[in-house]
Amino acid sequence: MTNTNFKDFGISYDILRALKGLGFTSPTEVQEKVIPIALTKRDISVKSQTGSGKTAAFGIPICELVDWDENKPQALVLTPTRELAMQVSQDIMSFGRFKRIKATAIYGKQPFAFQSSELKQKSHVVVGTPGRVMDHIERNTLDLSKVEILVIDEADEMLSMGFIELVESIISHLPKKRLTMLFSATLPKDVEKLCHKYMDNPLDIEIEKTESINQQIEHSVYVVKEAEKYALLKDITIVESPDSCIIFCRTKDNVDKIVDLLHDDGYTVDKIHGGMEQDERFNVMNDFKRGDFRYLVATDVAARGIDIDRISHVINYDMPLEKESYVHRTGRTGRAGELGKAITLVTPYEDKFLAAVEKYIGFNIDQKDAPSKQDVVIAKAAFKEKMTQQPELKVDKNEQLNENITKLYFNGGKKKKIRAVDFVGTIAKLSGVTAQDIGIIKIQDNVSYVEILNGKGAIVLKQMRDTTIKGKLLKVHIANK
Ligand code: AMP
Repeated sequence: MTNTNFKDFGISYDILRALKGLGFTSPTEVQEKVIPIALTKRDISVKSQTGSGKTAAFGIPICELVDWDENKPQALVLTPTRELAMQVSQDIMSFGRFKRIKATAIYGKQPFAFQSSELKQKSHVVVGTPGRVMDHIERNTLDLSKVEILVIDEADEMLSMGFIELVESIISHLPKKRLTMLFSATLPKDVEKLCHKYMDNPLDIEIEKTESINQQIEHSVYVVKEAEKYALLKDITIVESPDSCIIFCRTKDNVDKIVDLLHDDGYTVDKIHGGMEQDERFNVMNDFKRGDFRYLVATDVAARGIDIDRISHVINYDMPLEKESYVHRTGRTGRAGELGKAITLVTPYEDKFLAAVEKYIGFNIDQKDAPSKQDVVIAKAAFKEKMTQQPELKVDKNEQLNENITKLYFNGGKKKKIRAVDFVGTIAKLSGVTAQDIGIIKIQDNVSYVEILNGKGAIVLKQMRDTTIKGKLLKVHIANK
């Protein structure tokens, strides 16, 4: 955190209020450097570690710069994974909560028709994975003519996943006059080339990695034979007794195997890998974010950008073969100023991968001896006790911000010729309510949803039961979700 105040950036009250609600008291270094420049609309390329607060570094300027009245998307954010697209869109909606900013996430595997109907509604910001964004462009369901801001998030990952041509092709569909921001944990040559090809005199910002790599995370390695890895994993978890832990494996098969073993050994555990249905992946991730269970076993799909509060330990059950992957995996812990531990199991044949990681992060990782039998015996009682307790549930920052928001359902929409302005006009005239109390409005063919802010949900609900909209009395109740 820095000594600057968000107010110093001259951002509007609506956004400051949301940041306060999210518990953001002062900007992080990347926010301090990026926000003022982005607000002047100068292109920026940012090298910054995951966990440094970069979503807000681009999300706050986006919310500040977009014009609420414009219905077509004004900002496009490209992310490499579906989980990240979802998370970034939720974060942007949180920053823009009181300006009523609507962000739409578009990603593969979710029904196309659902997304195109979302895109037909007012969407100030679209966050998507390159493949699905391109699909929408090709089918004319995403109008990019008003896009003034482009963010390429996790650019290095985007390239390593082979998205470069898609990204370039998407860029060719965007208006030339725009603010482009590129974020990357590492800046390989290809990413730099991309910056210079598609950005206008970008300002290069580099955030020292010391903050997230050295100080917040305690790194250690254990050298172990392949056949003894599982036993060591158990001993380490007993001695460390983590509150919340991600165990990374290289393959889906290994994830399946380890999760089954841990489950049989009484751990509260679940898994995420690319072979699972997307909905299931989201559900597991959400449950883990909430703190429903302590151990998540995952492949690298969970390593990127995903923001989960208070993960105390990351264990690399399998040494990552790519040095960058080490940084992304371990970046899941030690986030936003908290301390974390990163533990890596290395087999004797993997020393060259370890050497590459050490060179990359710029320091040698402490090598530790396996916990002694005695240490394990001593720690076991406390560990068992903890295993029987339900983990402490974590409060989702976004949910906290949503506390005073009620979503109302109305049984009328486009087919009854009802538009958002009709809701605003009617609700703002109710007694004790102003236009400021109205949040995001979604109009579908036969139903509509209106968010009511500032704890005014109950009084709006009561009055709307006998108030007409465009001469029609609609059924109204609190929406299911
Ligand atoms: P990110 O790098 O965007 O994934 O953010 C990492 C974590 O830091 C997230 O949990 C954010 O909610 C949190 N965060 C970002 N900026 C701030 C801030 N200025 N103050 C407190 N927490 C923050």
